[in-house]
Amino acid sequence: MANPFPNGPGTVEAAGRLNIRLGKPRRQSPRAGGIEAGVRFAIRGSVAGEEVQGVSQWFELDGGQFVWAGACRDFQRLADGEDDDRPPRRHLGDYAPPVFTTATGIRHKVQGLRPQGLEGLIVHFDAYRIRQAGNGAEDSDRRSLDMMRSAQANGFHYGEISRTGTIFLAEGFEWGEWGSHAGQSQCPVTGRPGVSRYYVGFEMNNPGPLFEAQEDGVFCPWFNAVRDANGEVVLDVRGRCTRRSANDEWYSVDEVRKVAADGNIKAGIYLPYSHEQFEALTRLCLYLARTFPATFSLDRVFGHDEVAPKRKNDPGGALADPARLMTIPSSGTG
Ligand SMILES: [Zn+2]
Repeated sequence: MANPFPNGPGTVEAAGRLNIRLGKPRRQSPRAGGIEAGVRFAIRGSVAGEEVQGVSQWFELDGGQFVWAGACRDFQRLADGEDDDRPPRRHLGDYAPPVFTTATGIRHKVQGLRPQGLEGLIVHFDAYRIRQAGNGAEDSDRRSLDMMRSAQANGFHYGEISRTGTIFLAEGFEWGEWGSHAGQSQCPVTGRPGVSRYYVGFEMNNPGPLFEAQEDGVFCPWFNAVRDANGEVVLDVRGRCTRRSANDEWYSVDEVRKVAADGNIKAGIYLPYSHEQFEALTRLCLYLARTFPATFSLDRVFGHDEVAPKRKNDPGGALADPARLMTIPSSGTG
């Protein structure tokens, strides 16, 4: 029977409250949850299922779950390559509060009270190690704490999100107090300089821009590449760096992502954030929007490269456009 929408992956909006059916695309299948009216969510594609009111098209979600297409509207096809590394929007729309972990023994320098409360969030990467010494297993929680300690020593103020999705806050951290994390900067929305005063900073544990090494399929972070006296990575005529040690961190071709220049994002090679890390960031932003509805806006979630475009390249292609990622419903289920 009628298929109101084309096939293929994309997103749709719930026209009314939707039931998610598990196993088979029919109303008798067990209910696995619901989606509130107006929520946009990701679909893998279409299947033929039980005909309801003349419509037999159902959308397939992740995990063998289905929703009836007749209760959906405004299908949007997923652009090529889009969202490959992101959790499904439907999943992100299911609000779950973030869990905060106190970085015991670490305190960050507070400059004062935020003039009008917390207004937004700046995403950074820390351009730091993620693994144990010797290119060992990931040890991102410990590396994140290393960075938090370094921030204490250097007078900075930020939270860290590790690749396990752990959100670290310094001891005594208060959302209404500010400290330095973004340096010279300007908000693209308000035009105000010095965004640290208004926006909290979060560092994502990530090695930063990567460099192709002499060996094919080997990608090095700055700290495992030969550098010149200014600290810049030395590249040969092919644009390749020299790896300092095979026993320090490097990444293989299947771990990295090459991105083209796109607005504030600089072209380059990056290690994508982990699923858990990205999910923690999303939960954090939704939490702040709910906790500080009078001041915090999801429209003021920026990458450092958006508020300091000439100086900064983080979070770049590790995250893609953080503001766009936050354009999900901030109210509804809860
Ligand atoms: Zn930064």
